[in-house]
Amino acid sequence: MLIVAIIPLLLAGEATRFDSAFTPQFTRHQIENTSVATRIGLAKWAATRHGRKLIEYFQSTDCEITVVEDDAERGIGRAPEPGIATLVAATMHPSQRKRFEIILNPAYYQLPKGMFPLAGQPGNPADAMAIAWAGEMLHIYFYAHGISLPHHARADFQNEWHAVAAELGMGTVPHDDEDEYAHSVIVRYVGYGR
Ligand SMILES: [Zn+2]
Repeated sequence: MLIVAIIPLLLAGEATRFDSAFTPQFTRHQIENTSVATRIGLAKWAATRHGRKLIEYFQSTDCEITVVEDDAERGIGRAPEPGIATLVAATMHPSQRKRFEIILNPAYYQLPKGMFPLAGQPGNPADAMAIAWAGEMLHIYFYAHGISLPHHARADFQNEWHAVAAELGMGTVPHDDEDEYAHSVIVRYVGYGR
């Protein structure tokens, strides 16, 4: 296997390796200590053109991203804004290592009994995690450019968001201020019965 990228995307405390097709090659430790939805979601996002672009960017600019799974998180994911020192370093010292964190909740997606996802919406927990990876890594991408919150109203953020959501086959998932707190887009977009 040819490993082309080992980025400081710390999953279960270990850097994540990607092969030449940008498929993550998880370690045994990562497989034993992360949920399958989180791992499939990462693979789906990394397989998109926008996902690859961000991975290459994070690798080339020495961004270290710690990924934490938390089933108490009230939403599918969150990317806390880093301190001002990190935002300043992103623009003043681009080659300096910058540390970020994302929180994912792979247990958050639950389809109530008798309901089904609408077209273009996450159909299972792995889809929800692909959306969470795409959404939260996009926030990190903006932080890594020294851009503090808010991001959602920016045209460039929305353009990037719609492009990656469409690449994931979930182009109707919004990413805006209504979802800033919980990113709870899923339940609102689920229909009743068939
Ligand atoms: Zn957001």
